[in-house]
Amino acid sequence: MSIADLDVVIVGGGIQGLVALNTLVAEGYSCALVSDGDLGSGQTLHSHGYLSTGYGMFGPELPRASAEVVQPYLMKRGLGLSHDWVMIPPPNQPMFEELPAATLPDGFIVPPGLSAVRLADASFPKRGLVEALSHNHHNRVLRGHATPHWNGELVEAISVRPSDGGKEVVLSTKAVVVAAGCGSKRFVQGLVGQTPQTKQINHRRVHMICVQAPHGSLPTTSIAAMPLGLMLAAHDQKDNVTWYVTPMEMGGPSYDDVPGDAAGEIDPEVVVRGLVSLLTLYPRLPEIDGLRLGCYAGYRQDIGDRPGNPMCELAAGTKNVIIALPSGLVGPWLNAITVIEIVSGLVDPRGSQPPLPGGGAGVRVGSAVEDRPDFVWMGWNEWLREYPQISGQPVS
Ligand SMILES: Cc1cc2nc3c(=O)[nH]c(=O)nc-3n(C[C@H](O)[C@H](O)[C@H](O)COP(=O)(O)OP(=O)(O)OC[C@H]3O[C@@H](n4cnc5c(N)ncnc54)[C@H](O)[C@@H]3O)c2cc1C
Repeated sequence: MSIADLDVVIVGGGIQGLVALNTLVAEGYSCALVSDGDLGSGQTLHSHGYLSTGYGMFGPELPRASAEVVQPYLMKRGLGLSHDWVMIPPPNQPMFEELPAATLPDGFIVPPGLSAVRLADASFPKRGLVEALSHNHHNRVLRGHATPHWNGELVEAISVRPSDGGKEVVLSTKAVVVAAGCGSKRFVQGLVGQTPQTKQINHRRVHMICVQAPHGSLPTTSIAAMPLGLMLAAHDQKDNVTWYVTPMEMGGPSYDDVPGDAAGEIDPEVVVRGLVSLLTLYPRLPEIDGLRLGCYAGYRQDIGDRPGNPMCELAAGTKNVIIALPSGLVGPWLNAITVIEIVSGLVDPRGSQPPLPGGGAGVRVGSAVEDRPDFVWMGWNEWLREYPQISGQPVS
């Protein structure tokens, strides 16, 4: 067994853990990040890579953080952002009337009586973000499952049993940041049981239909089509255009026993609903040359009943465990400010990074779900055989 003595241990190597690591290291705290999978392989690489600002419905904080903090941060790290986002708002919503009108590319059909407006949102290459955030930090990362040493008030250390079967490492620490995404509720409840705070954490299933075609075959405009209950994030990638298409749901059931890597079971009915809405919006889809489709489901952690509401606070019943759940891709930067505020009240920064036994071993950036070897891509006809209900649906 090896031992390291640190200011802060971060549990979870998704976007939240990595943003926290970057921020804490920049402030001089000695840190380790523990993650039981490839970096980003949880919700972060399941996502659309869409910096959603809540369509202006949830107050000014998210739009401001996205424009003033997150987008400049990503651009400084060389990540190409796409700002080509439009929304088809629900009918009779005066709050959207002041947004500039937008025209959709050929092939899209806006439902009768509705029109599109431009959104000040952005998308980014999600794997590129994980690479940028972990650049130069792999030696601060231990790959393995984090198990806390709890004395009833404090987590005094985190044990890590490396995934490659190597020697156990014990990280003694003054503070712990639980950024374990869908594993966070389980981690904190393992210390203090269920509390009003942990009851606010919900895990909701989100389906993603991936649509891919060669460059020039699919438009690269992203669309939040509210009346159709559909979100389409278009990514102009090196070898193709990929659309991440989600049937949108507000609320919906919450699942407690979800895997830490956020992978979910597919419900074919939801996939069919999403594809039928997509065909309403873009009826020529089946005619696209080189088209392929696939789908997956993931669990997204939400706080309360709406998406995008971050949580960052001391875990109730603990004196040094900070729970950091972004519930969206803008949230990690808001949470990182609070992480520093709380940590600075618990420990003074040591100002150096002691060597981490096993740090960097087996650590790598994960792949987006649709790039993993077990992901199934299908042509349109295969897709219809898999989901025959689609051809029976009315497509206007
Ligand atoms: C399908 C889908 C689409 C989404 N689309 C969007 C979107 O377009 N825009 C948006 O803003 N948000 C979106 N989200 C939400 C967004 O992706 C998440 O809020 C964000 O990625 C969460 O990041 P995280 O770092 O908190 O968690 P994660 O990325 O899930 O990372 C947590 C990591 O912790 C690890 N872990 C868990 N337990 C332990 C343990 N005990 N020891 C060690 N490691 C552990 C896990 O393996 C995982 O890698 C989406 C989510 C899903 C599921």
